Amino acid sequence: MSEITNESSNFIEKIIDYDLKHHVYSRNIHTRFPPEPNGFLHIGHAKSICLNYGLAEEYNGIFNLRFDDTNPVKEDDTYIESIIKDVKWLCQNWNGKVFYASNYFEKMYSCALELIEKGLAYVDDLSAEEIKNHRGTLTSPGIESPFRNRTIAENRLLFENMKNGAYEDGAKVLRAKIDMASPNLNMRDPVLYRILRATHHNTNDEWCIYPMYDYAHPIQDAVENITHSICTLEFEDHRPLYEWVLDHLDEFKKEPPKQIEFAKLFLTKTMMGKRYLKQLVDEGFVDGWNDPRMPTISGYRKRGYTPESIRSFCDSIGVSKSQSVVDISMLEHAIREDLKTKAPRTMAVLDPVKLVITNYPEDKVEYLEAEINSENPDMGVKQIPFGREIFIERDDFMENPPNKYFRLFPGNEVRLRHAYFVRCTDFTKDAEGKVTEIRCTYDPETKSGSGFCARKVKGTIHWVSAKHALNAEVRLYDYMMEDEDFDKSNFLEKLNENSKVILKDCKVDDSFSSYNQGDRYQFLRHGYFIIDEESNDGKLVFNRIVQLKSSWK
Ligand code: ATP
Ligand code: MG
Repeated sequence: MSEITNESSNFIEKIIDYDLKHHVYSRNIHTRFPPEPNGFLHIGHAKSICLNYGLAEEYNGIFNLRFDDTNPVKEDDTYIESIIKDVKWLCQNWNGKVFYASNYFEKMYSCALELIEKGLAYVDDLSAEEIKNHRGTLTSPGIESPFRNRTIAENRLLFENMKNGAYEDGAKVLRAKIDMASPNLNMRDPVLYRILRATHHNTNDEWCIYPMYDYAHPIQDAVENITHSICTLEFEDHRPLYEWVLDHLDEFKKEPPKQIEFAKLFLTKTMMGKRYLKQLVDEGFVDGWNDPRMPTISGYRKRGYTPESIRSFCDSIGVSKSQSVVDISMLEHAIREDLKTKAPRTMAVLDPVKLVITNYPEDKVEYLEAEINSENPDMGVKQIPFGREIFIERDDFMENPPNKYFRLFPGNEVRLRHAYFVRCTDFTKDAEGKVTEIRCTYDPETKSGSGFCARKVKGTIHWVSAKHALNAEVRLYDYMMEDEDFDKSNFLEKLNENSKVILKDCKVDDSFSSYNQGDRYQFLRHGYFIIDEESNDGKLVFNRIVQLKSSWK
């Protein structure tokens, strides 16, 4: 166990170090990630998972994935499955054990009875509206309910009746008896239980009363022996209630878990928040929760991000108490860094035009050597087929180039990457003026890697042998939002309309005649790509993970 506070440790590690040093807990360090199963996880959740899981690993502790499934209305088993899959993907050594808050409904109920017995909770007949109106404001105290001083016996009976279905939904609630004049509104006799007839995904119709989050959460943590209950800043004002609940329950008041808050992650050019993401899905703005443009973990996975890159991103941004927006280029940097030495490099032509080398023998095929990854020589070399006809990018040729255009134009010479110098001699256009074919001559003396070449050229372009080319569909994704920052209320108007471009006629070489879905490559000059799971025998589909450089700023 780590007991030394090092310079680089974050404020949460400092708290844990202190607790360890002072033997605050007689149990292991124990963290949890408690999603509500009401949507897919996003990159903000990834930050929370990495933080909680990372702390458990660092301190030889334990990490729980716990579904906070106390609200039966919005929950769905599809969300549960997706969340488990995402956590598994992100934390590959995780033991896979899953906990459900709903398994503690009985315990929460008996805890409520304990509070009633202690005179610390009462059944209130006021309506939700009345309770709200009696709550007071930040500057004025609340008003005590006329039902606040019911006897313990009466409260017990009424609460049991609530549980047994004697009353209509909303007819009564159980409230904590704390202080209607507390400066903290959360402490003004908060509601602990409500009556709600809804079928729960786990307990079906067993219960018609459901606990409120602020009451249920500390009990869930305590039942699981959590030591450090890490949540986001909006719960800071709820901490006194978290502590109050545990402090008044005999079983939990010794060594209670402690709540620690940190700032949520926000990313530029990215809409976060399950509610909004669900809207994008439900209203068809994206192709589902795992659309590669979505900031969901499943979206990033389909897009081609690696778990390592997301973990390293979460690590690099740190944890803090002050709210800020992280530049999305930090996330892109993390995936580039991860793939830089891992992904084989290859040439692919996304917008092809044919180039014919008129002085190259008609049927000759030559295999040219290329490093698989120039930044990782251990990956070795491969042989690339070359012939008289090749494909190059349409924008690597211009009939009338501007100044400083160093690629192909009539009369100019460029290097074909891994091959020869070619000089443009001629080209043809169709009726609309679109270039249909470019003609060149090559110089056999300029073969790449064959030693000294007296001549220099300024431009190098990539290509694919036409005879060996395979067709591929390439999907280019861009940022979801047009602006760096935006207002949540009108985010639909700010969606980037060009966030998905599908190119159907791309060319890759025949090394892709066999491949594995999920393999990642760098296409020279174009960025990093993954073979999408929609690929099959007749169709090769790539998603662009990220460009080689940020496309904006
Ligand atoms: P959203 O705001 O997207 O609806 P949520 O907070 O309601 O998310 P929960 O399922 O309740 O989602 O959250 C599970 C955990 O993830 C909580 O501990 C929450 O604090 C944390 N979390 C949610 N969003 C972020 C974020 N943007 N950055 C860091 N942690 C987050
Ligand atoms: Mg929530």
